[in-house]
Amino acid sequence: MADKFDKTDMRNKKLTDELHKYEIELCRHIQSGIIEHEIAAVFTEDGLKIKDYEGTRSKTIIPYADYDLLRKNIYTHCHFIKEILSPGDILAFSEIGLKEIRAIIKNGRYSSLRESSDKNAVQSNIGYVMKAEEIGTAKQAMSILMDIINNTGLEISGEEYQDKILKIRIDKADEWLTENAENFGYIYEKGVI
Ligand SMILES: [Zn+2]
Repeated sequence: MADKFDKTDMRNKKLTDELHKYEIELCRHIQSGIIEHEIAAVFTEDGLKIKDYEGTRSKTIIPYADYDLLRKNIYTHCHFIKEILSPGDILAFSEIGLKEIRAIIKNGRYSSLRESSDKNAVQSNIGYVMKAEEIGTAKQAMSILMDIINNTGLEISGEEYQDKILKIRIDKADEWLTENAENFGYIYEKGVI
């Protein structure tokens, strides 16, 4: 897998290397079936891993007590449905004050939201704006899915229904971030690790 991230930003080389190593390993574990739920890690700007988390298949809860420790650091984790950051991920990014949040999927695709190194960029709390504008909410996703069901007669239930809701939510977040992240002083990027 080619290292595609960090072409434009002056990121610490050790951090780039350590993140890359960790994410490649994580992908391997998902591919081999060792991991079936979200795993997350937090790195400092100097490339030091300071924290690990384990979540469920679709979410990882970060304890509020850890927010201070995580502030201004880099959070990466795996996803099982899509590599796209969820609305919950973006909100956590703002609430904690992370420098970067990343999500990867087993084929090595990733998405990342990070602060721009452009000193003139106006950084603002994008997660709060998304929340206020109700981008990618469960309510919005349910109403979209209801339309699909009504129009197509699609029969769906249980885990499949939950997955579909999550897919709609992250697609909405993806659409919105692609269009707006830069205006808020952030870099939203997708690629292969
Ligand atoms: Zn996530």
